[in-house]
Amino acid sequence: MSDDSNNSTEKFTKKINGLFIDPQIFTYKFICTCPGHCCHYGVYIDYKEYETIISIKDKIIKNMDETQSTNTGKWFEPPEKDVDFESGIAVGTEVINGKCTFLDKNGLCTLQKIAMQEGEHKWKYKPIYCILFPLTTFEGTLTIDDEHIDRLPYCNVDPNTKLTMFEACEEELKHFLGDEGFEELKNYREEYLNEINIGVNEDVTK
Ligand code: SF4
Ligand code: SF4
Repeated sequence: MSDDSNNSTEKFTKKINGLFIDPQIFTYKFICTCPGHCCHYGVYIDYKEYETIISIKDKIIKNMDETQSTNTGKWFEPPEKDVDFESGIAVGTEVINGKCTFLDKNGLCTLQKIAMQEGEHKWKYKPIYCILFPLTTFEGTLTIDDEHIDRLPYCNVDPNTKLTMFEACEEELKHFLGDEGFEELKNYREEYLNEINIGVNEDVTK
């Protein structure tokens, strides 16, 4: 997230589902084309998500390959207090063989693979941070994790992309905000782009 994302209450005006919206998502150029480099560093998840993962550990173990560890004691870092997480506790996934413990040798997230095999929504077991990235929530604001994007050498490397974060992450935003929240976001986008004198159908990435 940008350095200036502090003091969200002063900087941002629009709230949806209780979160401020950083309008940078309407103009920030972004395209997701690499095969999941963001999964190579592990992820911090909420303690409740940790409990969900542990509750399906047998299914996860069955779906792991030889590059992953089936020892559940090696999957997570010790829990730590973190107010940015709903439960107030964050748990990091360990990096094993240079990738998140849940990433298989084909670059697939085992948690997503299981949900799809079960015919459930593909993100049923996936931590919200993973679903949202490169969007994130920080200090009560839905914003862009641009610091992490910058740390990832293969992330968002196409300088010619005409997409914005809003367009590239439409499915994720709908999932996160719900249909009503997403409609509100679309309306806010129109208002915001008009305010800065860019039409909704214009290329905002120039
Ligand atoms: S978000 Fe970035 S690092 Fe992750 S898959 Fe997309 S381009 Fe790659
Ligand atoms: S839990 Fe899945 S999506 Fe999240 S970092 Fe690990 S492999 Fe990637």
